[in-house]
Amino acid sequence: MLLNVQDVEIAYGRIKVLWGISLYVGDSEIVALVGANGAGKSTLIKGIMGLVPLQRGSITFSDHDVSKKPPWEKAKMGIAYIPEGGRVFPDLTVEENLMLTANLRKETLNVKAQLDLIYSLFPVLKERGFQKAGTLSGGERQMLAIGRALMSKPKLLLIDEVSMGLMPKLVTEVFETLKSLKAYGISMLITEQNVPEALAISDRGYVLENGRISLGGQADELLKSERVKTSFLGL
Ligand code: ATP
Repeated sequence: MLLNVQDVEIAYGRIKVLWGISLYVGDSEIVALVGANGAGKSTLIKGIMGLVPLQRGSITFSDHDVSKKPPWEKAKMGIAYIPEGGRVFPDLTVEENLMLTANLRKETLNVKAQLDLIYSLFPVLKERGFQKAGTLSGGERQMLAIGRALMSKPKLLLIDEVSMGLMPKLVTEVFETLKSLKAYGISMLITEQNVPEALAISDRGYVLENGRISLGGQADELLKSERVKTSFLGL
């Protein structure tokens, strides 16, 4: 098991937003975390990355207890985080954005090989390598955010609302790209409000409702479940 989250609880000040969260992500697995606005998806992703502290519970990554490790240590261990809206540095070029992440691990990484891999996955980033990231379209920016995360050669990608603000055609394209990353041995935990599309590319999923996991299972079974149909698919 790559990531194991056990009984995690998170609060902002005195306001608790997550209760008793347990989930896992296996090797080369895509796991979707779905739920309505405010259910706590972003908070959980931030908690796993170490951007917000856990009030209780534990997180192991590759059998190491990382519950209290800061984000930079988790990044070095192979966890990459793509925040909502896939932030990039707008005044740097596409290639500079990519190199920035790679430089953090340049002692252990074949930077050129990694850059070539990303350009082969996202040819549009190669075409636009010398363009300022701030001038990219929404879809291109999201690809750059994913590309940047991949530059560190992570084992696990934590992706928050990758489809946010993208037109439907691009959502499908970005999801298909994520699915293709499995072939490189990369696991993913993705949060999404776009439930059917997210579950369609996922192996398993969890439904988060009001800070608690209400349902979990194989993605195709979740898609067929009455709860998911009525809550998220408008059926
Ligand atoms: P969305 O899809 O709308 O981003 P979400 O499922 O990701 O929703 P979170 O952003 O994790 O949900 O928010 C969960 C709850 O925590 C919400 O009630 C939110 O108002 C609250 N919350 C989030 N961030 C903070 C913060 N920094 N301080 C206080 N409360 C917060």
